[in-house]
This record gives sequence, structure tokens and C-alpha cells, in this order.
Amino acid sequence: MQPARIPADASWACPACGDARVAGVLDVREGMFGSGETFTYVRCAPCGTLRIAHVPGDLGRHYPPHYYSRAVDPVRALRGPAGRLAAAVVRSGLGGRGRVLALAARAPHREVRGLCAAVRGLARAGAGPRATVLDVGGGAGVLVHALALAGLPSPLAVDPYAAPRALPSGARVAAGDAASVTGRFDVVAFHHSLEHMVDPVGALAGALPRLAPGGRALVRCPTASSRAFARYGADWVALDAPRHLFVPTRAGMEALAARAGWAVEAVADDATTLQCWGSRQNRRGVALMSPASRMRTPWRPRVDWLRMPWWAWRTRRDNRACRGDQACWILRPAAAAKRTTEGL
Ligand SMILES: [Zn+2]
Repeated sequence: MQPARIPADASWACPACGDARVAGVLDVREGMFGSGETFTYVRCAPCGTLRIAHVPGDLGRHYPPHYYSRAVDPVRALRGPAGRLAAAVVRSGLGGRGRVLALAARAPHREVRGLCAAVRGLARAGAGPRATVLDVGGGAGVLVHALALAGLPSPLAVDPYAAPRALPSGARVAAGDAASVTGRFDVVAFHHSLEHMVDPVGALAGALPRLAPGGRALVRCPTASSRAFARYGADWVALDAPRHLFVPTRAGMEALAARAGWAVEAVADDATTLQCWGSRQNRRGVALMSPASRMRTPWRPRVDWLRMPWWAWRTRRDNRACRGDQACWILRPAAAAKRTTEGL
């Protein structure tokens, strides 16, 4: 942070709390594809949330066809044993005793661990084995395909960059946002998608009418209230400039939810070791998706192998202390939360 450069001519107010005051400025390199571009971020004075100073006019350029959530074909990714494992993880997390999920969460396979984290989030939001789920910003629909393979009825992914599609499992993919779909859902999920949106308050408010009685929303996203941001600053991998238009603090997420008509019911940290090795690699100028990255060739960086136990321990410690670099927020409609509080 460089407080000497205040005030920045930020073009939009804090998307979390709505305040326009700026407490600091940070120049962040694009680190996923190594485009060489740098983007200025500012820190909100009241809530500490980071936001890009100027939203790029050509945001679509930063989501090329090989962007990870667009490039994958759900049917191909989850065919055969992979699909059976995904279904078993979902059934275990949403209705079973959780043993399969607990085992799979230790798998050396990043996609499997990602699915486990997503399923844990859904379980925290109260999803059972027959829950209806709307996945906002769900990319090509891998998660909803896994949910449908496990027997959940017609889960729907909606994404502005997605091609509309009905998957053979019964899951559906639609183009757009929460406000553009019909129906009601037990859980409306934003898995690492809200921070990509220009109007997160509008997106969360648009999800309210989609909620079935007694339902919950869940928001999983990175948070600037983390030791990783304090440790790595502009090199912190989860800044993901310019795709992450904002990265909220925990106070910022509370303010954002309140402005959209929701109340935070619970928060659980779910940072992974990516916060350590990804940030360190970023500092060395290795793009996350480059062939030299641990993301592409996990067996190559031998130094990283030696550090991994230490990073795993540090990540567990950060999560326990509620200082991980990402978390899962469970939200209830503010009106329902108020009724519950009054009834106590
Ligand atoms: Zn703010």
C-alpha cells in the first residue's frame, strides 16, 4: 500500500460498503496469463475492501476461451470413474456421513479438492441430497453436473459467458445472472464469482427472489482480511487483476450483504496452500497458467515440494484463526434473520 499517492481518481465507489473514500493504492500485475499489464487497486477507507480503480471497458478480453471455468467440458471432465467419484463426494457431503468427502478432500487432485470445498459450502448452507441449487457464475457447469449425477433435481448454472446447454445428467446451464432466471431454489451459490461482478449488491439482491422459503445463499470468495494479503501484498495470488474487481474484507462482506437485503449467518475459512505457493510464484514472475507454474506441472518446482508441509501447516493455522485468504459466507434474507432474532 502506498498512502502517499492518495487521493486516487477511482472511478467507482466501494462495491461492498458504498463509500468512495480511499485509504491507499496498490499496483497489481496480471498474474494468471502473464499479460504484462498492471492495474491499480485502491483500498476503501471505512471497510478496507480492495477494488480496482477503473473497471476495464473490455472485461471480456480477460476471460479468453481457455479461461479455466470456460475451457472445461463438464461431460468430458466427469465421465466414467471421475463422474462416479464426484457423485459419491456430493452424496457423502450432502446426505451421507461425510467419510468419502473427508477422504477425497485429501486427494492429490486439485479439481477433486475444489469439488469437496464447493460441496462443503453447500452443506453449510443447508443443502440436502434433494436440494434445488442455483449456481451463479457457474462457468460451463461442472459443479451442477456433479450435483445432478448425485441425484439433485435439475441444478442450474447461470453465467454471463456460458453457452446455454442441457446436460445429460439433468443439470442445466444458462447465460445471464440470477435475476435472469426463473424458479426458486433452496441454495443460491456464488462460488468465487461475486468478486468478478461490477454490481455485487445488485447481483445479491437479484438472488433474493430466487430463494425458496427457508433457503440460504452462500458466497465463497477471497478476502483482504487475510494473512496472505498482509504477507504478499500486490503479489497475493487471489488479487487476480483485473478479473477480481474487488476483494472484500470481512467487514466489507457484512456491509455488502446488508445493502443487498441479506444477513451473514456464518463464515468458515477455506483457504488452500495456493495462497502460499501461488503468491510466491507470482512474486517470481511465473504466471499461474504458464507451463512453469505448479498449477500446470506440480512435480517440477522441487523447492516448492520441500516447502509444501510448512505451507499446509500455515494454511490450516490461518483458517483456524479466521485469517485464511478465502472464506465461505452463509447468508439469510435479512427479514428472516430479523424474525428469528426477535423470536428468541
Ligand atoms: Zn468499503
